[in-house]
Amino acid sequence: VITQEPVTLDTFRARAREWFEANTPQGWEEALEHASEEAAVTFFQDWARKLHSGGFLVHHWPREFGGGGCTVAEQIVIQQELARANAPRPRYMTISLGHAAATLMEHGTAEQRELLNGIMTGEIWCQGFSEPNAGSDLASLQTRAVRHGDHYLVNGSKVWSSHAHRAGWCLLLCRTDPSVPKHHGISLLLLDMRTPGVEVRPIRQPSGSSEFCEIFLTDVRIPVDMLVGQENAGWKIAQTTLSTERAAQIIELLEGLRTTIGRLVVAARETQLGGGRTMADDDSFRQELAARAAEVEALGLLTERMLSGLIAYGKLGPESSVIKLYYSELLQRMMSLGVRVAGLPTHTDPLRQVDWSFTTGAWMIDYIHTWIWTISAGSNEIQRNIIGERVLGLPRGPR
Ligand SMILES: Cc1cc2nc3c(=O)[nH]c(=O)nc-3n(C[C@H](O)[C@H](O)[C@H](O)COP(=O)(O)OP(=O)(O)OC[C@H]3O[C@@H](n4cnc5c(N)ncnc54)[C@H](O)[C@@H]3O)c2cc1C
Repeated sequence: VITQEPVTLDTFRARAREWFEANTPQGWEEALEHASEEAAVTFFQDWARKLHSGGFLVHHWPREFGGGGCTVAEQIVIQQELARANAPRPRYMTISLGHAAATLMEHGTAEQRELLNGIMTGEIWCQGFSEPNAGSDLASLQTRAVRHGDHYLVNGSKVWSSHAHRAGWCLLLCRTDPSVPKHHGISLLLLDMRTPGVEVRPIRQPSGSSEFCEIFLTDVRIPVDMLVGQENAGWKIAQTTLSTERAAQIIELLEGLRTTIGRLVVAARETQLGGGRTMADDDSFRQELAARAAEVEALGLLTERMLSGLIAYGKLGPESSVIKLYYSELLQRMMSLGVRVAGLPTHTDPLRQVDWSFTTGAWMIDYIHTWIWTISAGSNEIQRNIIGERVLGLPRGPR
């Protein structure tokens, strides 16, 4: 669908729309509702390959790496059309398509970049950064990698690593020099998760699913060829990995929130209050819904401003912290309103093994699920620090 010849954005949109209309699997959400995690992983990997066949999996990668070379404007169109068709996004592959790919493209050797081929056929990557005592203060990480000839011997543990139990490869941050200031003794290694000594334990979440895991590393041998960039330069390289905040995700969230307003109206009309009245007639509900709808529109405007900056300057500024703060807390307010409308029955919604969105229709599960957004990719307290220091120019907080 994506071709080398230049086309107008309207033609591009028409082609994308046609493809998503023809290829979106019908009834996929219902089919996954009670699916096992294995079945869901297979479904999403097949879907990733299908997207690739249409040119919609790695459209954001440069052509020299096998990508579609799409402009930011074209990427936005693809996200909008994907949301419009209610097509699945390539779940489980956020780290593969964004973080791992960006790191390999910018810092990888020719041999390491061959791993990009696996991503195009649905390989899942995970990110082994956080540790029990190194989350917000990531540079305090302790996992140790000691060089012995042609390999590193790695010992330590990681936590909260999304989809590590399904991953073939891991971006692993390790301490290679404990004698220097903490930011200067860290290296980034590529870990084949099938290596002996790697043990992955999924962590069960309140929603029932196990999205992330602990990783235990005992005398794991990683070939020196799998060092990304220079030894002890891992902190800087990790900034490339972490800055791969994808505008695509925000567009998807925005579309999800817009859909949720409609779902809240339907749910409120179905909720009887007695005397022929429904929740939709209740003044306090109506006011809250109006406030949420206004907030979604405000998020839309903030997103537009951020995207025009991205188109003009090619990167996101610290204002993306404002958006992260805003959407993550709005998601919680929105789903909490859903819980109020759905009432007592939603408190017993069955837990599920598979999370694929925050708009599953089971309001309580969706509400619990939204709490990941205020912690992952830098907690909201950290975002407030960034806004204070880099946007408002306030003095740095004590470190
Ligand atoms: C859904 C999800 C997926 C994740 N996926 C991954 C992954 O794939 N790979 C990975 O490596 N990690 C992952 N993480 C981990 C995530 O990066 C960390 O949870 C996050 O950085 C916070 O670290 P922490 O949990 O250790 O909390 P801590 O850093 O211990 O923070 C605890 C509390 O203290 C606050 N706090 C900490 N420092 C400050 C400060 N300087 N000023 C003000 N308040 C502060 C925090 O905001 C938080 O409320 C994931 C987390 C979630 C929720």
